[in-house]
Amino acid sequence: TPLAQIRNFSIIAHIDHGKSTLADRLIQTTGALSDREMTNQVLDNMELERERGITIKAQTVRLSYRAKDGLTYVLNLMDTPGHVDFAYEVSRSLAACEGSLLVVDASQGVEAQTLANVYQAIDANHEIVPVLNKIDLPAADVPKVKQQIEDVIGLDTSDAVEISAKTGLNIEGVLEALVTRLPPPTGDADAPLKALLVDSWYDPYLGVIILVRVKDGRLRRGQKIRMMAQGSVHTVEQVGVFAPKLTPVDDLGPGEMGYITAAIKTVADCNVGDTLTEDRHPASEPLPGFKPSVPVVWCGLYPVDADDFEKLRDSLGKLRLNDASFHYEAETSAALGFGFRCGFLGLLHLEIIQERLSREFDLDLIATAPSVVYRLHKTNGEMMELHNPADMPDGSVIDRIEEPWIKATILVPDDYLGSVLTLCSERRGQQVDLTYVGNRAMAVYRLPLNEVVFDFYDRLKSVSRGYASFDYTMDGYADGDLVRISILVNHEPVDALSFIAHRAAADNRGRAICAKLKDLIPRQLFKIAIQAAIGGRVIARETIGALSKDVTAKCYGGDISRKRKLLEKQKEGKKRMRQFGRVEIPQSAFLAALKMD
Ligand code: GDP
Ligand code: MG
Repeated sequence: TPLAQIRNFSIIAHIDHGKSTLADRLIQTTGALSDREMTNQVLDNMELERERGITIKAQTVRLSYRAKDGLTYVLNLMDTPGHVDFAYEVSRSLAACEGSLLVVDASQGVEAQTLANVYQAIDANHEIVPVLNKIDLPAADVPKVKQQIEDVIGLDTSDAVEISAKTGLNIEGVLEALVTRLPPPTGDADAPLKALLVDSWYDPYLGVIILVRVKDGRLRRGQKIRMMAQGSVHTVEQVGVFAPKLTPVDDLGPGEMGYITAAIKTVADCNVGDTLTEDRHPASEPLPGFKPSVPVVWCGLYPVDADDFEKLRDSLGKLRLNDASFHYEAETSAALGFGFRCGFLGLLHLEIIQERLSREFDLDLIATAPSVVYRLHKTNGEMMELHNPADMPDGSVIDRIEEPWIKATILVPDDYLGSVLTLCSERRGQQVDLTYVGNRAMAVYRLPLNEVVFDFYDRLKSVSRGYASFDYTMDGYADGDLVRISILVNHEPVDALSFIAHRAAADNRGRAICAKLKDLIPRQLFKIAIQAAIGGRVIARETIGALSKDVTAKCYGGDISRKRKLLEKQKEGKKRMRQFGRVEIPQSAFLAALKMD
């Protein structure tokens, strides 16, 4: 295909504004899949994505469209995730495209992630076509939303495309806008190969698959390629496109997007953002890569069954291949044994990885309390980064502790503004700005990240009845009056439950955890003391009374098989228990105790 007939584009939008529905409609309209093959939201192909209705991995698909000018165009679409945790994936997809469709729900208007995504697209020098979706809804207010886009983003909306992705209204208008308004890619087919490694993942049949965007030269089967940053050399085995099924082709030229396989075994060989070049005729300089992603939330993941440690290591390796933003390293815990310290882009990201480990890899895991990365300045002048509250040294060697802050942008209808401001100030927020976008307030706050990681997003949704939208960027470190709270069960510290909090919140949080554990730890044959302490000082205490009866007593000794079943069940439950001194704590107690109200 000549370059002039290629368009590479992303769809960007706030969550639920209809990206995936529009992508489906584009696939269907251009006939890439038959009606029978068409399932809803083709691009959201991970089971988890479908269930949660969110897009986690950026996906790509190649469409063929015969435009009104009589020419047939190749349209490479990259779907992007909309959730705040996945901004990194968005930036990767944008780097592989020349333009974006900015989808805005005409009944909702501009939201926090609309802004965040559109700024990223502007940074990537994209041509942006505004698309107003859901105009079939009675609540749609096209003129008002156009005005918002002009006022807040500064984009001209006179040519905005008005559609309903759901009913299929004016999808043709979107396709024509892509062809006439987005620039074609540029590149030189005769120059040395330069292809951007956009993404990679593990496929059980084909092994490691790499998603590439060719800038210059040609990528062919049998070619020896070199990863410029990483340095390794591989022979290309298969070259193909996503149509949307993987479909082998002979080669990929400038401007094209597709995949390769090259018998790559190790995760370390595929750094997202790396440049592929030909080993014998290498390019002189790599393409500009991506900023490496920085995990902001860490927690420990431990197998419930210690025998699963190697399986966990293997599974984390495979997940990491699918998700360059996820980090892990081995660690040990006195309470939990051998496991991994894992870094995530946010809490949703953490939840998703945990769920994928249990679903796709059939692993039972215990997760410790999520923690942000603190900077500890010791009295001897050394600085250490603390990923795990259990590693915090003795208070006497610590001079001061810095914690990460974020800058949050919250859009919320006026009616709920009061509750949102209250929530922000409860979380030690500092107001930076408060303006209006139509009848909605846009509040900009600085907040300590550790006040946000637990449940801020859920609370925000609940105090605004789901109407608030939220986005954030990291905003440096600042000193905080922070203390480590240890949780002791029968006077033994449970390292996995210790956490760091602001001094003013310590008593309340300590009390809440003790009260929760009291309900969560089953009674045993002896009394159990549960305490929260800062250093040697106990700040909260609860006692669980002793259990008197044998659990099998209620079987009256008569029905042996029933009794055996009960004991079996108990044994099964035991596998999910952790021993602390003489006390067994069920895994569910950890998870529940670690979730704050
Ligand atoms: P995404 O999060 O941006 O990918 O949004 P989805 O494509 O998953 O759509 C979110 C919800 O909006 C789904 O329930 C869709 O069925 C619905 N939706 C998408 N487009 C339209 C539309 O044009 N009209 C109406 N009424 N609903 C739509
Ligand atoms: Mg989606």
